[in-house]
Amino acid sequence: MEELQNPSRYRDGQWLANATEDAMTRPGAPTTKEPDADARVAFIAGAIGLVWVAALALGLLGGVVDLTFVVLAAAAPIALVYGVRRYRPAGRRPWIVMTTALVLFLIGGGLRQSFDTLGDLSTGRSLVPDLVTIPGYLMLGVALAGIARMQRGGRRDVDGLLDGLIAGLAAWTLAWIYLVDPALFHAEAPLPVRLVLSSYPALSAFLVVITARIGFGSGRRIRQSAAFRLLFGAMTMLFVGDTLFMIAETADVSIPTNLLAVPYALTYVAAITLMLHPSMRLVTEPLPVDETTQGRGRLAFVAIALVIPALVAVTRVNEKPSDRIALATIVIALTAAAVWRMLRAIRGFARSEATLAHRATHDSLTGLPNRAYVQDSVDRSLSRLQLGDGGTAVFFLDIDRFKLVNDSHGHGLGDEYLVAVARRLTSTTDSGTLIARVGGDEFVIVIEGLRSLESALEFGERVRLSFRSPFLIRGAEIASSVSVGIAYTNGRDGWADAETLMRNADTAMYQAKDAGRDAVTVFDDSMRNRAAQRLELEADLRHALERDELHLHYQPVVRLDDGTIEGFEALLRWSHPTRGQIPPVVFIPVAEDTGLITAIGAWVTEEACRQLARWRKILPNGRSLRMSVNLSARQFRDPDLVGMVRRALDASALPGNALCLELTESLLMANGARAADELTALRSLGVQLSIDDFGTGYSSLAYLRRFQVDEVKIDRSFVDGLDHDDSPDETLVAAIIAMAKALNIATVAEGVETLAQAERLVRQGCPTAQGYYFSRPVPADQMPEVAERLGVARAHHLGLVRDETA
Ligand code: C2E
Ligand code: CA
Ligand code: CA
Repeated sequence: MEELQNPSRYRDGQWLANATEDAMTRPGAPTTKEPDADARVAFIAGAIGLVWVAALALGLLGGVVDLTFVVLAAAAPIALVYGVRRYRPAGRRPWIVMTTALVLFLIGGGLRQSFDTLGDLSTGRSLVPDLVTIPGYLMLGVALAGIARMQRGGRRDVDGLLDGLIAGLAAWTLAWIYLVDPALFHAEAPLPVRLVLSSYPALSAFLVVITARIGFGSGRRIRQSAAFRLLFGAMTMLFVGDTLFMIAETADVSIPTNLLAVPYALTYVAAITLMLHPSMRLVTEPLPVDETTQGRGRLAFVAIALVIPALVAVTRVNEKPSDRIALATIVIALTAAAVWRMLRAIRGFARSEATLAHRATHDSLTGLPNRAYVQDSVDRSLSRLQLGDGGTAVFFLDIDRFKLVNDSHGHGLGDEYLVAVARRLTSTTDSGTLIARVGGDEFVIVIEGLRSLESALEFGERVRLSFRSPFLIRGAEIASSVSVGIAYTNGRDGWADAETLMRNADTAMYQAKDAGRDAVTVFDDSMRNRAAQRLELEADLRHALERDELHLHYQPVVRLDDGTIEGFEALLRWSHPTRGQIPPVVFIPVAEDTGLITAIGAWVTEEACRQLARWRKILPNGRSLRMSVNLSARQFRDPDLVGMVRRALDASALPGNALCLELTESLLMANGARAADELTALRSLGVQLSIDDFGTGYSSLAYLRRFQVDEVKIDRSFVDGLDHDDSPDETLVAAIIAMAKALNIATVAEGVETLAQAERLVRQGCPTAQGYYFSRPVPADQMPEVAERLGVARAHHLGLVRDETA
């Protein structure tokens, strides 16, 4: 990965990486693979070839022209085998095809010599050499096309093809004018000969173009590699050779055979060096997408190609009709290709523009419009509306307990759930209704032209009820409900803007949640006040800690058998400077939403520990007293939770088991695996764990066992029922106590307010309780007094207990 981001290292790293990989996977392969040494081998071979060709050109070798080509014919396949085996390019086929072509050329050359066809333009000229050579050209074309395809990693590249076509046509124009035309209309030559002769330079011109296309289609890295330069050189030499040959065949100039052979020999030397060079591997390597993008070079290349035929058309003076027809055809074809290319570019732009616009205004998961889109369209719809047209309603939906599903079943299922919800909403509403997903599990529906608020409410109810049938996801049934907030405007009190309307619907939705979820609420102005108040509260809470406005009250937890204090629960209090005492049920949710609970919770834990350490010294039987502290789900997201607890214990020199953390079942449900880890870490400190409000949530035995809970606190609502005889709650409480006993878990009954409740709990074997009957939560300085009172009551209490159980 790293190499890819760093092109210069990539080149080196690539080789080293491949070398080791090859050495490991192929035992037979040579183990020392130095790219530099390999490159040197290639260049030495190339240099030898060049010297040989130079000698040939100078006539120093005299009659060994034939020998030269025999050697080259043998060297090419050897180089191929060497290169392919040593460098293991991604694709072998192009190299094999290329080598075969080179061999075919040599065979063709040999045949040409034995048939002695050079300069023979008569009907008696044998076409056998050409029948061998021309397929060679086609094979070269196939090899180059193969390389281009491998570079694109199989991606289709119509634009590249069109560029190639444009360039090819330009090359044809030149070839036509200067080579084909003279050959084709050579007075004496028979037609087949003319056709054959004319095809060589045209074919090789095209090969040059394809090679150039490979270079321009890829990045600098390829273009500047030795392999690419050699490939380009080979094709150019072939073209030069063909041109010379053409001239030798048709014109009356005689070119010595050894000179005529030079470009071809160079073609071979270049090809052989190429296959010996380590960078040959680069050429057939799939390119990263960003390297195939068109650079300025490619554009210039196409532009020049487009201009050539036009220039030729302008500068040609004495045109023959054949010339004119050919040129016109080429120019038409060229223009067609250019137009096609342009249309594609324009279409491509339009498409990507549309995709971008769609992406900016739509949610990728459900494909529904997003918040930006609704806001915009509500704005537009409001500006269109006239008084008396009816009103516009915004429905803000939030799926109830979505987080629970998401956390306990995983995000994959959560996503499918959201998609299913989107589908359900679409099927409940008329087509054309605007439905948007504006947040994780939040949706907005907008309806225009509603006669009245009542019809808006009706629709809201319909949406709410549509969640009644459970969602079937991955074979599991997920029961769900939705909270809906409505904001409606009909222009009577002036039109609200889209933003306000959305915000109001959002506020109303929160009211629906507060009202116990699965509800529909219409926004009214009192909510605005409530929303504003909440914002104010939030701002004030941010300063509450530093301004010393928070403090703790403590409620004793009492042993039912003898009335002694077993421990305390720390309960947070906020004395607001202007609003007086604010109950925790009001401000703790705010602290949780804002994340302030992390800092506040840390303070509570530390302060409660400090207080317990003091009481352990001064209260009777103080050494065994415990402190219970409430923990919010949000605090589990704090990576420092365990550290925080450890520091609180250390600061007061308390053992871990002096502290009990109260958690809710929903916290365990929602945090699953994560909670298990945190709890294990907490338990390793010796800290006890208690399940608060037990019985109101899932009350799952499995959870009690899985999280190794020490205590359950029976919720106040069950204790309430114990006031009357034969209440169904009595059996429930009995069941909870029995279950806890079986699991060796302690039970505390919460909210004991009356003697009758206390008596029943004793009868059912509940060991501990807390509640107003024993003591309200009190400030720390009143606790010694409370302890004393409870101590005095003890004698009486003991008597009572004996009476009842006797
Ligand atoms: P909780 O943990 O269930 O706390 C027990 C609540 O019942 C306390 O309310 C307590 O004052 C009240 N209570 C105790 N005995 C009786 C009784 O006999 N009858 C009745 N009707 N109520 C009784 P409080 O202090 O208003 O606290 C409310 C909730 O706020 C707590 O419920 C707890 O969930 C949360 N809370 C309080 N302090 C903290 C804290 O430091 N951190 C966190 N995260 N939550 C806290
Ligand atoms: Ca509690
Ligand atoms: Ca409780």
